[in-house]
Amino acid sequence: MAAVLPASVRRTDKGRFSKAKTFIRNKNAANRLKASWYALEKQQNEKDERDPEVCSGFPLRGRQVVELNVLAEALDGGCEACGAALRLSDCIKETVSGLGSLLYISCSNSECGETNTCRTNKTHRSIGTTRGRPIFDVNTKLAAGMLHAGIVPTHVNELLSFINIPSLGESALKAREREVGLQIENLAKESCLKGLESERSLWKDDSEKENVEIGASYDMGWKKRGKARNSLTGTLQN
Ligand SMILES: [Zn+2]
Repeated sequence: MAAVLPASVRRTDKGRFSKAKTFIRNKNAANRLKASWYALEKQQNEKDERDPEVCSGFPLRGRQVVELNVLAEALDGGCEACGAALRLSDCIKETVSGLGSLLYISCSNSECGETNTCRTNKTHRSIGTTRGRPIFDVNTKLAAGMLHAGIVPTHVNELLSFINIPSLGESALKAREREVGLQIENLAKESCLKGLESERSLWKDDSEKENVEIGASYDMGWKKRGKARNSLTGTLQN
């Protein structure tokens, strides 16, 4: 048999018991909040109808790294559904992925309504993967540049923020660093072997011996404060 609650007690939406007065007060407050939320939403919708550029939620301003030919090709390609030309000013949304981004551009033909996705930079996939979102080349190149300059993601982001380009997440940059690091390592090994082979062929005499004696000089160096090595000031420790 269901219990009958006294008139002074109510149950909230979550099943808790509460005094009738408190229950009514809370309910009224929730209704007021809901009403003000709807009013705000209605106001925003009216504003959007008046000014379609604002409704897009994608401000066409700021600084970005864009490969002009890639974007131009995507815009010139036209709408996937009807082939009508695409305009950058019709962009309604943007998905940012590091320095690259995907622009969602609505068709200029009002009867079509198709939303087309355009890349701002070239993309590739990691070796051995065929699924997931493609990786922007520019992010991998940034990681390669970071390794070359001997700096860390914090330095990269400091630099980017100074020129008002949205910065990258540290983990994203590290992932690209791992991707490019493997290739650099392979290239370095290959280059060392090539150098060794060319040195060997220069020292090789007419004999058919497998092992060849070669001359070598060496120098010592130590790591200075900062990022450079200086062999001129190196000393040999006994
Ligand atoms: Zn279209």
